[in-house]
Amino acid sequence: MTNVRTDGQRKRVFIRTYGCQMNVYDSDRMADVLRPLGYALADGPEQADLVVLNSCHIREHASEKVYSELGRLRDAKVQRRTEGGDLTIAVAGCVAQAEGTEIVRRQPAVDIVVGPQAYHRLPELLAAAERKASIRRAGKRLPGAGVLDTDFPPESKFDHLPAPQGVRAGSAFLSIQEGCDKFCTFCVVPYTRGAEYSRPVSAVLAEARQLLAAGAIEITLLGQNVNAYHGEAPPDSKRGSTWSLARLIRALAEIDGVARIRYTTSHPRDMDDDLIAVHGEVPQLMPYLHLPVQSGSDRILEAMNRRHGRDLFLRLVDRLRSVQSELALSSDFIVGFPGESDADFDETMRLIDEVGFASAFSFKYSRRPGTPGSAMPDQVPEAVKAARLAALQALLAKQARAFNASKVGATVPVLFAEPGRKPGQIVGKTPWLQSVYADGDPRLIGRILDVRLTEGHANSLAGEIAGRLCEAAA
Ligand code: SAM
Ligand code: SF4
Repeated sequence: MTNVRTDGQRKRVFIRTYGCQMNVYDSDRMADVLRPLGYALADGPEQADLVVLNSCHIREHASEKVYSELGRLRDAKVQRRTEGGDLTIAVAGCVAQAEGTEIVRRQPAVDIVVGPQAYHRLPELLAAAERKASIRRAGKRLPGAGVLDTDFPPESKFDHLPAPQGVRAGSAFLSIQEGCDKFCTFCVVPYTRGAEYSRPVSAVLAEARQLLAAGAIEITLLGQNVNAYHGEAPPDSKRGSTWSLARLIRALAEIDGVARIRYTTSHPRDMDDDLIAVHGEVPQLMPYLHLPVQSGSDRILEAMNRRHGRDLFLRLVDRLRSVQSELALSSDFIVGFPGESDADFDETMRLIDEVGFASAFSFKYSRRPGTPGSAMPDQVPEAVKAARLAALQALLAKQARAFNASKVGATVPVLFAEPGRKPGQIVGKTPWLQSVYADGDPRLIGRILDVRLTEGHANSLAGEIAGRLCEAAA
C-alpha cells in the first residue's frame, strides 16, 4: 500500500465512532496504527481516502445507523471512481464482529471488515484491499468482495499497538480490560468482545506514563467490566500474582502528574471492599461512579442474569457514600425487558427515588439476535416500553437538575476540554462529570481551573473562572 497519493498529498483517514468510550479508545488507537502508514486525520468523509466506521452493536438502532452511513459512503465511492479517484471503506467494532459476512453481503462497497480484537492488523488488511482494488482496476474478476478479519486472535492486540500519540485536552482513556464472562441475557458484549481479559499491570502503567508525557492529567480506566480487572502483577510485586482494580488505582495515583482518575463501566457484583475503600482514600479518584443497575425488580434482575439483587445495589450505594459523602452516582437502566410488569417497573422507579442519581443512561430493551432475552416469551409491546422510558427519564432528569442546582454557588475545579458553542466560551468537566460553560481563553483547554458555578440546568452548568490554577490536585 502506498503512503503517498499520486498527487503528492498525504493520505487521509476519517474515523467515525459509534457507541461507548471503549470505541473512542479503539478509534484513537486505530489512528495510531494508521499514522506510520502515512495517514493523517481528516475532518470528514469528504476529505478522506479511507473511512473507518467504528460500529456499535449493543442495540438494534446502533447497528442500523452503520448500514445507513454505508449507503451514503457507497454513493461517495461511486462518485469518486467516476472522477478517477477512489474511497476505501472499512467497518470496525462490534457490528463488524457480529455481522462480518452479512455486512459485505448487504453492502459490497465495503473493502475491509475488522473486529475489535484485530484492528492492529489494519496495515495487512489495507494492503490486501489494495491488491483487490488493483485487480479490479485491471478489469479482472474479483476474488469475492471485502477483506475480513473478525477472529479473536490468541495474542493480545495490545502487544502489537504503537504507543498512544497525542492526548485530547488533558484527558485520556486507557483500556485495561476487555470482554465479559457475565452473559447478561440482554447483552451482545460477551459475543462481540469475547472472553474477559485484563492487561498486565506493567503494560497499563507504562501506557499511563506515555499518556502523561503526551499531556494527560486525567486518566479514565476503561473496560466492559472494569472492576473485574485482575491484571498480571508486575515482576517486582511482593504480594499475589494478580492486581485488583483497587490496587491499580493506588499505583496510578502515585505517578507524578496524575490529577484525576476515573473508571468505567463497573458491575455491582465486582464492587469489592477494597475498591469501595479506595473511594475514600485516593484524592485523585473523582467522586463519581457509573454503576449500572438496569432494573429495580429482583424478578427482572434474575431474568437478566445480573447475579445481583436490588438490596445488594442499595447496600453498595450506602457503603460507597459512607466512605465518600460527595459521591455522585450514575447508572444504566433498561425498561421493557421481557416479562417486565407494571409492578416490576414501579420497583425500578422506587429504586431511583431511593438512590437519587446525578445522571443516568436509559434504554428501551432491544431484542438482540443470539442473546437469550431475544427468545424469551412475554416480549413487552413497543408502546409500553416507550411510556415507561418517558416516565423513567422524566424522573432521572428531575434528579439531574436537582443535583446540578445543588452545586450552584460553589467554586469547584473544572478540567476544560473544548471550545463552547458560543464565541469566547470554553467547556469543561467538574469532578462529578457535569459539563460547565464559562467565558475563557481557548488556551486554557487541557487545564484544571477553579470555577464559581452560577447557574444549573438540566444537562450542564454555567460558571465564571475564579482564576487560580490547580493542576496538581482536582
Ligand atoms: N458492563 C456494563 C454492565 O454490567 O451493566 C454494561 C455495558 S453495556 C455495553 C452498556 C449498557 O447498554 C448496559 O448497561 C445496558 O443498559 C445497555 N444495553 C445492553 N444491551 C441492551 C439491550 N439489548 N437493550 C437495551 N439496552 C441494552
Ligand atoms: Fe453486557 Fe455488562 Fe452484562 Fe457483560 S456485565 S453481559 S457487558 S451488561
